Amino acid sequence: MTIEELKQKVLGGQAISLDEACWLAMQPDKEALYAAAAEITRRMAPREFNMCSIVNAKSGRCPEDCRWCAQSAHYPTKAEVYDLLPAGECLRHALCNERQDVARFSLVTSGRKPTGRQLGKICDTVRKIRRHSSIHLCASLGLLDEQGLQALHEAGVTRYHCNLEAAPSYFATLCTTHTQADKIETLRAAQRVGMDICSGGIIGMGESMEQRIELAFTLKELGVKSIPLNLLSPIPGTPLEGQPPLTPDEVLTTIALFRFIHPTAYLRFAGGRAQLGKDTVLKAMQTGINAAIVGDLLTTLGSKVNEDKALALQAGYRLCDTMTDRLHLWHPYTSTTHPLPVYKVDKAEGATITLADGTRLVEGMSSWWCAVHGYNHPVLNKAVAEQLKHMAHVMFGGLTHEPAIELAKLLLPLVPPSMQKIFYADSGSVAVEVAMKMAVQYWHGKGESKKTNFVTIRSGYHGDTWNAMSVCDPVTGMHSLFGSALPVRYFAPQPRSRFHGEWMPDDIEPLHALIRERHEELAALILEPIVQGAGGMWFYHPQYLREAARLCREYGLLLIFDEIATGFGRTGKLFAWEHAEVEPDIMCIGKALTGGYLTLSAVLASNEVADCISLHTPGVFMHGPTFMGNPLACAIACASVRLLTSEEYNWQGKVSAIESQLLRELAPARELAIVKDVRVLGAIGVVELHRPVDMAWMQRRFVEEGIWLRPFGRLVYVMPPFIIRPDELNQLTCGMLKILTEMNKDQ
Ligand code: PMP
Repeated sequence: MTIEELKQKVLGGQAISLDEACWLAMQPDKEALYAAAAEITRRMAPREFNMCSIVNAKSGRCPEDCRWCAQSAHYPTKAEVYDLLPAGECLRHALCNERQDVARFSLVTSGRKPTGRQLGKICDTVRKIRRHSSIHLCASLGLLDEQGLQALHEAGVTRYHCNLEAAPSYFATLCTTHTQADKIETLRAAQRVGMDICSGGIIGMGESMEQRIELAFTLKELGVKSIPLNLLSPIPGTPLEGQPPLTPDEVLTTIALFRFIHPTAYLRFAGGRAQLGKDTVLKAMQTGINAAIVGDLLTTLGSKVNEDKALALQAGYRLCDTMTDRLHLWHPYTSTTHPLPVYKVDKAEGATITLADGTRLVEGMSSWWCAVHGYNHPVLNKAVAEQLKHMAHVMFGGLTHEPAIELAKLLLPLVPPSMQKIFYADSGSVAVEVAMKMAVQYWHGKGESKKTNFVTIRSGYHGDTWNAMSVCDPVTGMHSLFGSALPVRYFAPQPRSRFHGEWMPDDIEPLHALIRERHEELAALILEPIVQGAGGMWFYHPQYLREAARLCREYGLLLIFDEIATGFGRTGKLFAWEHAEVEPDIMCIGKALTGGYLTLSAVLASNEVADCISLHTPGVFMHGPTFMGNPLACAIACASVRLLTSEEYNWQGKVSAIESQLLRELAPARELAIVKDVRVLGAIGVVELHRPVDMAWMQRRFVEEGIWLRPFGRLVYVMPPFIIRPDELNQLTCGMLKILTEMNKDQ
């Protein structure tokens, strides 16, 4: 056995045994041990230094007899004695910490556990803090039972702290009024109610190195990911007052061993580190400490937090520069209590996104289909500057402007010839709402006021607003929870005939049966032509559209195409309807309309639809958003459409080159056991897996590989800007394959 071998074992994802840890502790070459632990820390532990803070919310007069503790009533110490701090004062501490980008704040009380009345007051304090601050809250209130922990969790505490303090074999010699089993039961109860747990101990209380290792393994069994390590400060008056101080080597060896045993945890410097010299503190951070409880007194907090930040930077850690984001901003489809990591972007140019820390990422998402020309494009930038000389916005009620008119002239020749009217809207979802309202108002005009419902196909996605949600797939469309609150729509199965496969004539039968049965109440069929986006990234056969259009005509339904994602060249045709050459009655476009610069969508309609609405009461279409036809957005859209359709740009050449490269370079993914399907159409490449991915892990690995992709569910997909260079696209596909292969190995 060598230190090197054990390090490799940990780096390879295997746990070391208790005997191996004891062997490590005995090695005379301490520097080699520290260096190995430092490498594990660098490669496996979080690199963002994690700071939390505590307030002593109730101090002194504790009935417990813990031999190290200043607050025990059994010993004559000079600890402060006060009852629960007022909620306002705890809030002041919390806000002070939040302002300094400290991640968490804990309420700590002395005593075995609070009384019911005290716990009620603490929960009130927690609620008050949650009302005025978003710092994540911890609590350390002693041996609470499950009911108390549940109350605390519901009030807003997400992590419970209870130190095991020492090895199971040593604890009983340090405290007789409670057992370590009581502590373990408290931690397990906290886990049962859904809280994270934080637990560590104090070293330097006369325990052996083996007992420190025993403590580390006990914490591992509990699944603790945040481990405070205190160095005993011998308190005059306590039985441990004469305990000799730890040597720097004892401290560093303990930290190194904890890191070997807990490679991915936060090892948190807590009390007692003031007794170490600055060099030892720095070395401890490099060896394994990647977190700290910072500050103690409100008046000295600022300087202390700043000192800790400086040391963390010196030790090679990052500091969180997105704390306000983490605490206050709600990202799409993200928890606020356990948010997925976000990466701060400094700038973006072409197909490159540059993060605030200088990391450069090749962009594989076109910012969700829209940035087709990449970023910071001189032509679009110029359009912004030119338009700003005229106006950013005027209302569209009673006023019009050149960019809106010009955009209409540019769009009309590109869309199905029967699309004669254009209604500008704000976003894709709003366009879908508008299209659905149009369909209902059309049938109202026709005197068919029963035709108000919609039919669609499974695995579709049409946006996040109320009616858009109602036509998303009830399961994969992300809105199942709204189930009974949404209008009930009719769903035909997803077409099974693949885009490049055989047409299976019975594919249309379920839709036919539905329409035959329900046509009297159906205003329209709405679907994404050819490519279903966020509901499943599925490419289906053009014949399905032809058959669907025929059914709509036969049974008197309008046909709505949602081309919000598919529009502007993404599928290899300028719009996806061209694959089937069937024209809809209403069509929604958005996303790439402005080349990703500003939100703008449009609903296109036939004269048949528009005339019917206009010729019947109320004689006007009942919709009119504030930012309708925003001139700045329209001017950019004009520039984007002109650029896309210019001869020199050659969008078709660009998209078909991307398609060939994706086909070639994603093909090897088919060999992986975790992969269910690989499909490519136009500038879209999809790898479908058998199981959902771990998003946070995969996102981090992609960023480490220098690429930007955002998988969801079982789908890992790429849809780059059209201007991407072959070498950049190669970086994307190689990165995808590399990470998928890693996943495959771990299966
Ligand atoms: N329809 C489709 C097909 C889409 O892909 C999306 C967006 N993913 C929407 C509608 C909704 O667009 P927005 O997010 O702009 O509201």
